[in-house]
Formats: sequence, structure tokens, C-alpha cells
Amino acid sequence: MPSYYGLEKRNVSELELVIVGAGAAGLSAAIYASLLNINHILLEAESGGGLVNLAKTVENFPGVTGKRGPEIIQSLIHQLETAGGRLNSFEPAEEFDFSSGENFKVKTGADCYHPKTVIIATGLELLGLREEFGIKDERKYLGKGVSYCAECDGPLFKGKRVMIIGNPFEAFLLKRLCDKVYYLGPVPAEFKAKVPIEVIEANDIEYMEGKIEGLIGDKSLSAVTIDGKILGIEGLFITGKKAGSDIFGKAGLKLDDNGFIIVNRQMETNIDGVYAAGDITGEPWQISKSIGEGAVATLSAFKFLTGQEMRNLGWALQDEWER
Ligand SMILES: Cc1cc2nc3c(=O)[nH]c(=O)nc-3n(C[C@H](O)[C@H](O)[C@H](O)COP(=O)(O)OP(=O)(O)OC[C@H]3O[C@@H](n4cnc5c(N)ncnc54)[C@H](O)[C@@H]3O)c2cc1C
Repeated sequence: MPSYYGLEKRNVSELELVIVGAGAAGLSAAIYASLLNINHILLEAESGGGLVNLAKTVENFPGVTGKRGPEIIQSLIHQLETAGGRLNSFEPAEEFDFSSGENFKVKTGADCYHPKTVIIATGLELLGLREEFGIKDERKYLGKGVSYCAECDGPLFKGKRVMIIGNPFEAFLLKRLCDKVYYLGPVPAEFKAKVPIEVIEANDIEYMEGKIEGLIGDKSLSAVTIDGKILGIEGLFITGKKAGSDIFGKAGLKLDDNGFIIVNRQMETNIDGVYAAGDITGEPWQISKSIGEGAVATLSAFKFLTGQEMRNLGWALQDEWER
């Protein structure tokens, strides 16, 4: 039998919790699980850390000033290891079976786990990272003028000239902060009905259409070339996000219209014992929200597990404890 964290600490032989995804939300959930001696494993498809690794400077994570994204992740991993936890890198969860009321099934390439509870923290898919949306040199300027998130990086461009492609709602957010905002159309189909071009223009955002042919700037972005013309901007926001795979819907979890997992304030999904946290539960897509939701999800799982133990001992539980 594989050794799960906590088995040696408590006289419990079963795997109590599987956390899927080791970004901000999953790491936070695992830190709480380690501190609470919950027998758990943390599965991660890649090396760990998720999208925070792409953030060059983070200014809006309260209590942490001016840190680079990877530094924040290192500090979370350090905290996890100090609490006795660890992460299973390069072990993606591939299949879920939530049909049994007793123990669930989480299958990876290497193993099949049977936990009593599951926390899903797999994040979302950024359209800016997909090849077909890619602009030449986009990655070279990431964090040096190119951003995928107006909510996150908007404050870094206060009083500057910026352009946005994708989600028009994020253009309104930038308009509150920046001196000049260009919206490069066409508006993607999913937003067209909700935000007509007239509404964009009425908000003092300059609407234009064209193709970005190149990014210009020595140390950071200073201009873009669009259809042969150079336009001076210091920020280019390539926005738009969607939920990743549909494996969770297939496993019976309720999703919203955009494919994000529906949860309540306890991070409970529609299936008892299954929780979700972080970007996968929908907007806002922020580190502080992901960290908070990861913590709440583990506390809810802890309550659920304790409730099961009490029931096994013959105690009748009150509703107040279960909710
Ligand atoms: C460039 C950039 C800059 C940003 N800057 C800021 C900022 O300044 N401030 C801020 O608040 N927010 C910022 N954000 C947003 C922030 O990064 C996200 O809100 C946060 O990363 C969400 O954390 P998460 O754990 O929910 O998801 P993620 O960070 O996406 O982590 C999900 C993890 O799950 C793993 N995974 C996926 N599928 C599986 C599977 N099947 N099995 C196992 N593992 C799986 C992934 O590999 C990943 O490691 C920024 C985002 C970007 C892209």
C-alpha cells in the first residue's frame, strides 16, 4: 500500500482526502490538511505551482508585497513541507468515479486512489496561452507589457496606454485605471451579445479591428504593429478564460454555463464529500480567493470526515454540525 501523509501520525489506515492540482488553491488545501493530520495526497499534473508561476510581480496579495509569482509558490511549498506534507508531481488525475457513497475513485496513470473526500483545484485554461491565439513574441514580453489578466495586472498600468483583446468586461476595468484603452476587435462570439461595440465606445474605449503583426520594445513593450501601422502602448492584455476539460461534468458534478464547478460557501459541490476551490469555481480569478477557497474546502472536508467518524461511533449528528 502506498504511504500517505499522516498514516504514521494517526491510527487511521484509510486515505481520507485526495487534492487534485497543486496551484495556489491546492497548495493551500494541502497545508491545511497537513496541519490537521488528515491522511491525504496532493496530485499535480506538472511540477506544481500553477499559473502563479507566470506572474512576474504580485502587488495584490495582501500581506505580501512586490514578490514574484514563483517566490510565492516556493514559500507555499516550503510551508507545506514544514507542516509535513508533500506534492506528487507529474501525476495527473485522469478519471473520477464519485458514484459510491463510501469511497470515491481517483485514477492516475500510476495508481488508483480510494479517498473518502476529494478537493478539485485544477484551475482554468487561459486562451492567451493557446497557440492559435498566440502573437509572435508574446511570451518574450509576458510580464514586460503583455498580460493575461486585467484584474491582476491592471494596477501596474495606472495612467498608461494599453490595448486589450478578448473579454470586453476587462476593458471597462482597465478604463478606470489607465490613461488610454484600445479594444482590438472583433469581439469574441461569447461576448458579442452581452457587450455591443457601441457600449464599448460609449465608455471612452477606442474600438478598432486589425491583426497584431509584431511587438516592439527594448526592455519592455512600447508599441505594437497593426496592419503595418505602429501604435504606442505600454500594456497589451490578451484576456479570455475557460474551464479546462469536461471530466468533472462527466463524473456528475454540476457545472455552470461556462463549465466552472458550482460550489456553495463551504466549497461543497452537488456531491457530498467532493469540494472544489480556486479558479475552477469561477470568477474572480485571484490568488487571494484561491488560497482562501483551498483553506475552506479542507475545513469542510475535515468536518465531513469527523462527522463520518462520529456516525460510525453511533452518534446522531445535528444539522448545525453538518452544515
Ligand atoms: C500571467 C498571470 C499573472 C497573474 N497575476 C496575478 C496577480 O498579480 N494577482 C492575483 O491575485 N492573481 C494573478 N493571477 C491569477 C492567479 O495566478 C490565479 O488566480 C491562481 O493561479 C489560481 O490558482 P488555482 O490553484 O485555482 O489554479 P492554477 O494556478 O491554474 O493551478 C491549477 C493546478 O492544477 C494542475 N492540474 C490541472 N489538471 C490536473 C489534473 N487532472 N491532475 C492533477 N493536476 C492538475 C495544474 O497543472 C496546475 O498546477 C495571474 C495569472 C496569470 C496567468
